[in-house]
Amino acid sequence: MTSALSHRGSAPGADRLAGPIRTCVGCRQSDMQSALVRVTAEGHGLCADTSHRKPGRGAYVHARSSCLAGAERGGFSRSFRTSIARDAVAGIRKHIQVMVKSEGSYE
Ligand SMILES: [Zn+2]
Repeated sequence: MTSALSHRGSAPGADRLAGPIRTCVGCRQSDMQSALVRVTAEGHGLCADTSHRKPGRGAYVHARSSCLAGAERGGFSRSFRTSIARDAVAGIRKHIQVMVKSEGSYE
């Protein structure tokens, strides 16, 4: 019998501690879910899902102005497969900026 211990299938990766990886719709870089803000589509609007518990399709974006700008230029629409009103994007952008500013980490 050959030993199966040589093939454990779990590569020693950094994501073991970091949790799930998501892709930012702004810069399209993958990052830890915890480093991204989850945004869900609600009707024709957008909602920042700070609790990460809202049902439905979610998009992830870094709380950075450059990433929010990228999301605004089409990232959200692409992710939600529907056109998102600019008002809704502007609203969510403001919401995220305020949210992150209060934590002192907005770039
Ligand atoms: Zn990003």
